[in-house]
Amino acid sequence: MRVLAMLDGTITDPETPVLRVDDLGVTRGDGVFETILVVDGKPRELGPHLDRLARSAAMLQLPEPDRAAWERCVRVVLDNWRGPSEMALKLVYTRGPEFGDGTPTGYAMGLPIGAKVLAAREAGVAAILLERGYDPEIVERAPWLLLGAKSLSYAVNMAALRHAEALGAAEVIFTAADGSVLEGPTSTVVIASGTTLRTTPPSSGILKGTTQGALFRAAERAGWVTKVEPITVAELRDAEAVFLASSVRKITRVHTLDGVALRDTSALHKELTALYESEY
Ligand code: PLP
Repeated sequence: MRVLAMLDGTITDPETPVLRVDDLGVTRGDGVFETILVVDGKPRELGPHLDRLARSAAMLQLPEPDRAAWERCVRVVLDNWRGPSEMALKLVYTRGPEFGDGTPTGYAMGLPIGAKVLAAREAGVAAILLERGYDPEIVERAPWLLLGAKSLSYAVNMAALRHAEALGAAEVIFTAADGSVLEGPTSTVVIASGTTLRTTPPSSGILKGTTQGALFRAAERAGWVTKVEPITVAELRDAEAVFLASSVRKITRVHTLDGVALRDTSALHKELTALYESEY
């Protein structure tokens, strides 16, 4: 069950090839994307996702995304969805064909949430720390590294996940050269200690997470203290609980870190998931 709408609003058969072989999104990963959770026909954090799509596009010097066209395209997918109550809605925006007229390629695709993600929401995941190999300080100095853009060049992120799988874990938490914690390949790291939630700042070259944003909004209302500041690996290991947050996985608990079982945080996980859900 998948639904595909092109940016001009036309519904297209997802089994039919629609991309040109010279599309720069395919040949160079030159484009940006978003993945949005839709529950009962309602997209979560659509505004922040479209904001981030625009920020990512600006970082890649792509033409500014036409927000109204994207909103229409999203609506077409939502209106044509006949699948389960939860959908992953992917927006893809590339530089378009290399030998074309310069028009970017854009489409939105709705698809069911993968079984692995659904299982991890309940059971949690084992994660390992892997180096990303740069200092947070490089973010300002080297904008061409596109740190903080959600670009289509995710081969490194996927390779990190395969590396973790080969070592018997399911997830990765990247660390910077200075030993600070960054993010997961497709998630934001959130740690909890007492009544404080913490996450790392986007200035360290990570994506600003929309799920983490929603969780922190709800948590603040419920009296939690939230902090967006650098986290050291020692603080991560000492935290009461470690979570990976992203749109489709919601708030997923890390039960094992670098092979060491963390304490049982199921009750806290339930509480934070309820807070996050209270936003919708
Ligand atoms: N960090 C990275 C690298 C991601 O790819 C994602 C989402 O896929 C996130 C963080 C979490 O972002 P969001 O909560 O907006 O889905």
